[in-house]
Amino acid sequence: MSAAEAAAPCDFIRNIINEDLKTGKYEGRVHTRFPPEPNGYLHIGHAKSICLNFGIAAQYGGLCNLRFDDTNPAKEEDEYVRAITEDVRWLGFDWQDRLYYGSDYFEQMYDYAVQLIEAEKAYVDDLSAEEVRQYRGTLVDPGRESPHRNRSIEENMDLFKRMRAGEFKDGSRVLRAKIDMASPNMNLRDPAMYRISHATHHRTGDKWCIYPMYDWAHGLEDSIEGITHSICTLEFEDHRPLYDWFLEQLGVYHPQQIEFARLNLSYTVMSKRKLLQLVEGGYVNGWDDPRLPTIAGLRRRGCTPEAIRDFCERVGVAKTDSVIDIALLEHCIREDLNKRTPRVMAVLNPLRLVIDNYPEGLVEDMDAVNNPEDPAMGTRKVPFSRVLYIERDDFREDPPAKFYRLAPGREVRLRYAYLVTCVDVKKDERTGEVTELHCTYDPESRGGNPPDGRRVKGTIHWVSAPQALEAEVRLYDRLFTAENPMEAVGGEGFLGVLNPDSLQVVNGYVEPSLAGTAPGSRYQFERLGYFCADSKDFSPDHLVFNRTIPLRDSWAKIEKQL
Ligand code: ATP
Ligand code: MG
Repeated sequence: MSAAEAAAPCDFIRNIINEDLKTGKYEGRVHTRFPPEPNGYLHIGHAKSICLNFGIAAQYGGLCNLRFDDTNPAKEEDEYVRAITEDVRWLGFDWQDRLYYGSDYFEQMYDYAVQLIEAEKAYVDDLSAEEVRQYRGTLVDPGRESPHRNRSIEENMDLFKRMRAGEFKDGSRVLRAKIDMASPNMNLRDPAMYRISHATHHRTGDKWCIYPMYDWAHGLEDSIEGITHSICTLEFEDHRPLYDWFLEQLGVYHPQQIEFARLNLSYTVMSKRKLLQLVEGGYVNGWDDPRLPTIAGLRRRGCTPEAIRDFCERVGVAKTDSVIDIALLEHCIREDLNKRTPRVMAVLNPLRLVIDNYPEGLVEDMDAVNNPEDPAMGTRKVPFSRVLYIERDDFREDPPAKFYRLAPGREVRLRYAYLVTCVDVKKDERTGEVTELHCTYDPESRGGNPPDGRRVKGTIHWVSAPQALEAEVRLYDRLFTAENPMEAVGGEGFLGVLNPDSLQVVNGYVEPSLAGTAPGSRYQFERLGYFCADSKDFSPDHLVFNRTIPLRDSWAKIEKQL
């Protein structure tokens, strides 16, 4: 076993593959696929599936296809196809020349359907959708056979051809598999294979007016592409007998479907339908809103693909559903950004600080460390002058116990600069609000350490007012206040537990080294958190930063408690 193999995760899916490799079930091949329906943007749940499918292919020297499962013309769009390919690539995976569309197989699927009609395994049904539902029975009652179930092969062929030719209205007929109306598995009670829909498809246009149902199409797509292990989420477990039935009846190449538990995350919603509702209802600003768990949103927020892949690996693969604490994702994001981001100083809630005994007009360049975790990232110069901005929160007129920052008469360290002592507090006469602090500095303490060795506990960050750059900073928080938004009670459902403070926009100042920043660049704003230059709205004349995540690590605390 190589080192890479030893380090690779092992789970029930990989155990199945190992066994198949041993028995030579697929002649030693491993071929997976990631099959999104292009009806929305990908979310972090899809990332789990992507990492699993592409990860397995890479681990076993196999292949993984990217396949658009585009069998429902009503909801599918090219915009989604473009976004999905971009997201998969950004996550770090490569399908090489294997980009496929389910719609490319429509003709072949049709031929397979004809084959089933000829084998008396499929029939055209004229029952309405409502009648089909009534005939289907319930979990305790068997279904009833449709009066059209025993049509002749000729009549079925004639009707099916005419369905395709566009002779019938939407919903007036379906092609059904002839299996067993009494099956305890409802999916086997003569499921629909084709429905009529006079809708324009994003790729095939108006060529077709009948469209294959998911269960019929999916196994065929896998079979046509020579997939070995068709990995899907748990809700398809009860569909597996149908997946197998179709392939067995046709006598075609037969991949193996394997189900795993889908990813659920606390404080968020994951289904594309819900995400679409948030986007269309204007609750967020588009699919790439940094508050959404979409890949595009996480990217815009400042997450790296490495952090997302790390998260997916830590979550692992299981056979039972669970909800993952979003703090784990946040932890992965912090851990990754901590290693890679340069530190800079920014003040988001500014309070002017004037150093009375600092020479007017003097500007000194202070040496600041770019990343204490990585000395190779070097140092930079940060200008220091007589007028600074500090965080309003770093001053208290009446400091509580254990508040070691600035207060009247108190001395603190200005990071990378000098020690200053607060000597006066200016206030707005009307409101009483503090408007400006006056301090004196100790010229001997450059770099932060006084020659007499006196102890100064607090260190605060700052920017020099004349050189600082104005910046719009978007502070994002969790989108929902409830741990499980889908269980929210009340008429509005999950929309009723939206966090009203999930986006707060502030105007702050950043150090001048950020002047040449490129959109998408990531930083740690010292003592505040991780931020990135917004990929859409950032420009040299209007700096816009997104807060990816604050520094506080609630996961580390939880881990400690455990
Ligand atoms: P949603 O339920 O969010 O609308 P979906 O399952 O309808 O998602 P598809 O485009 O059909 O979305 O999914 C593509 C692949 O991603 C499928 O193999 C599906 O099983 C997988 N997938 C979707 N959601 C998750 C999730 N939360 N966790 C893991 N895999 C997922
Ligand atoms: Mg789906």
